[in-house]
Amino acid sequence: MIEWSESQQMIRDAVRKFVETEIKPRVEDLEHGDTPPYEVLRKMIRTFGMDELARQRFGHQIEKDRKAEAARAGGESSPREEKRPRSDGGDSAAMQIIPIIELCRFCPGLVTAMGVSMGLTAASIMSKGTIAQKERWALDLLTLEKIGAWAITEPGSGSDAFGGMKASARRDGDGYVLNGNKTFITNGPYADTIVFICKLDEPEVDPRDRKILHFVLERGMPGLVQSKPMRKMGLHSSPTGELFVEDVRVGRDRLLGESEARAAASGRAGAKDTFSMERSGVAAMALGIIERCLELSLDYARSRVQFGKPIGEFQLIQEKIATMEVARVNVQNMVYRHIELVASGKSMTLAEASAMKLYSARAASEVAMEAVQLFGGNGYMAEYQVEQLARDAKVLQIYAGTDEIQISQIARSLLAG
Ligand SMILES: Cc1cc2nc3c(=O)[nH]c(=O)nc-3n(C[C@H](O)[C@H](O)[C@H](O)COP(=O)(O)OP(=O)(O)OC[C@H]3O[C@@H](n4cnc5c(N)ncnc54)[C@H](O)[C@@H]3O)c2cc1C
Repeated sequence: MIEWSESQQMIRDAVRKFVETEIKPRVEDLEHGDTPPYEVLRKMIRTFGMDELARQRFGHQIEKDRKAEAARAGGESSPREEKRPRSDGGDSAAMQIIPIIELCRFCPGLVTAMGVSMGLTAASIMSKGTIAQKERWALDLLTLEKIGAWAITEPGSGSDAFGGMKASARRDGDGYVLNGNKTFITNGPYADTIVFICKLDEPEVDPRDRKILHFVLERGMPGLVQSKPMRKMGLHSSPTGELFVEDVRVGRDRLLGESEARAAASGRAGAKDTFSMERSGVAAMALGIIERCLELSLDYARSRVQFGKPIGEFQLIQEKIATMEVARVNVQNMVYRHIELVASGKSMTLAEASAMKLYSARAASEVAMEAVQLFGGNGYMAEYQVEQLARDAKVLQIYAGTDEIQISQIARSLLAG
């Protein structure tokens, strides 16, 4: 893929128009008011039929799962899932990526709130849950009728999410008693459905090696407290909160996979798939931020006059603009490659997804900070959008694995051959 196709451009123009009319005028309220992001996101999803598409995909997946289950019950080995090239020239992959890019031009927080709910949380249930669990929780998340949160990070464990994890599940009769605190959880304050990741309480096993289990909790369960949104540097339209889980009693029906052995088998590996998915999304977010910063910088460089000429005529300003363009072209090519791979039924290795995340997150931060610099004092003022984009861009280097963690994963994976 070397450029957007005609049909993809049409999708992009329609989404851009929606963002300009429905989101741009509400940015102030979404960022600094008390308006949670979910209603405007639901409107977008309905406008572009993304909910209907999700329902159809969900139906096909459940049908496949049922066939596989019947085959297993009949003693056959379940049919191997082959990734096949898509016949739509990448349009369905582009339809997932384009709204991310377009929303990030104005409000990257919306993408985080949406991605964690419809992406991370739903994907976690779809990859680990039984058919009954998928039907019970995933469809409502995939259509954003319900809000989801995916909770792994704790006050004492972030980058070393599994190693330092304290949240625990103690066997109790047929079910479990859950305990633990989670922090920095996107949608935490408003989530209806929460994937709570913890370790099985196995006193005889070293804490670092205990089984990782995923449970589904729901708003209002006794013992579950969801904090108010935390105050933070940027990304204000994405509510982030803490979760306090104290002696929450759950049945086996809330353990994803409904069996410890099955859950533990997919525990750590499953979370790595999730990391890969998040990382591709971050590149699309970076592209939206870079595109918008470049556009704003070009307008400003043409119109702002100092020493009797537009600042765009100064070489030091030109260098900033050229560097922004290099970043835009590189990140755009990475996003195209991701779409092309999905369209041909392939996926990136974790190392490549990490490399893409590392590069694009750094590029978005650097471009946005350079845009602030190019705007001078105006760049530091909230009235000019580059100030918000610079604060928002920074998080791309922290969540979904920090820059430092991406670096070590890329290097480790290359060195392992
Ligand atoms: C806005 C926002 C939303 C988030 N949403 C969610 C969510 O929905 N769900 C969720 O579970 N989590 C979420 N997180 C948490 C996020 O994933 C973590 O903040 C991130 O993984 C880093 O962990 P930490 O904050 O504990 O930093 P730490 O792990 O304590 O890292 C501190 C510093 O040490 C460095 N460091 C750590 N280990 C190494 C190493 N081995 N080598 C070199 N350097 C290292 C880090 O790179 C960093 O610079 C969110 C965070 C933010 C900011």
